[in-house]
Amino acid sequence: MPVVAAIPKPNAPVELREVAEPELENDSALLRVDLSEVCGTDVYLQQGKLANVPYPLVPGHVSVGTLEKIRGTVSDINGNNFREGDRVTFLDVHRTCNACWYCLVAKTTTRCPHRKVYGITYGLDDGLCGGWASHVYLKPGTRVINLEADKETFMSGGCALPTSVHAVERADIKLGYTVLVLGSGPVGINSIILSLMRGALQVLCIGAPETRLAAAKKVGASDILNFETHAEQQRLEWVLSQTAGRGADVTIEATGAAEAVVQAMRFTRDAGIVVIVGQYTDHGPTTFNPHLDLNKKHLDVRGCWGSDFSHFYRAAQIVSNEKRCSPWREIEVKKFGLGDANEALAEVADGRVLKALIDPRQ
Ligand SMILES: [Zn+2]
Ligand SMILES: [Zn+2]
Repeated sequence: MPVVAAIPKPNAPVELREVAEPELENDSALLRVDLSEVCGTDVYLQQGKLANVPYPLVPGHVSVGTLEKIRGTVSDINGNNFREGDRVTFLDVHRTCNACWYCLVAKTTTRCPHRKVYGITYGLDDGLCGGWASHVYLKPGTRVINLEADKETFMSGGCALPTSVHAVERADIKLGYTVLVLGSGPVGINSIILSLMRGALQVLCIGAPETRLAAAKKVGASDILNFETHAEQQRLEWVLSQTAGRGADVTIEATGAAEAVVQAMRFTRDAGIVVIVGQYTDHGPTTFNPHLDLNKKHLDVRGCWGSDFSHFYRAAQIVSNEKRCSPWREIEVKKFGLGDANEALAEVADGRVLKALIDPRQ
């Protein structure tokens, strides 16, 4: 019988439950989970900080596994049919409708009101829909990708990788740019790697704690600064001193702190671009001076919400490429069994571990 690690309700500890094996609908599959992940969003889910989440919830939105059973046909983007035994990953976003105003007119499927997300807006009542489990039920229409990458290397990027592909795409980085990344969590680290791939000359990173800053350095940040020991003015001076007094060409905010949004604007040069990706959860309001911080600077501030299939697909391709995957091999992961999910959440919440993975067979 499949086993899941579920959050019964907000602020309650994760508990193990046995769930009946689902009856497979036509063109669906049962995935045996090899690895899933624990990210900052899961911490907020446990704390009840996200709206419209159906508890009890099985977290784990990005996972790698082996197709154990297929009923009917499940095929990839190239039209190849999957077979039982294939190692795959899947896009956590399901049921993007391709029929609403956001999908068809705005062409922003991440804002489609019909989309559901495995491990976030699909609860346990919807079936085996989260990766903290022995099995996940891949409902009809789930976008499945054959995974050639080493599973641990792919999962070291986890959900932060497609999120960062989207953020870097929004950032419009040009060859030779100086990019500033605020935050040294998984999204910050992945944004450093991808900014360099996109052609940045140097990537600066302001974050904490020291272990995460060391990880930023390891994947290619040219310089790092600990925000816990440097006040805002010192951080600004540090950025200006490395950019001929102008500020970064592009700043990617990946912090989860509202005040960092304003700092991102202040640390960016006039006519630069700021991408806000670290406010997926509601971290409250902040204030800024519209004249000094925005209008006079002729700044372009862009929000970046979630990711779509194109980001996820390209993320999987990059990590599957022998020559491109090396930075992700530098990211340290720590594996936890299903029964240790509470400990994993605590370590992620405290920033003690950069990337925590769930190994259901551990
Ligand atoms: Zn839609
Ligand atoms: Zn996540």
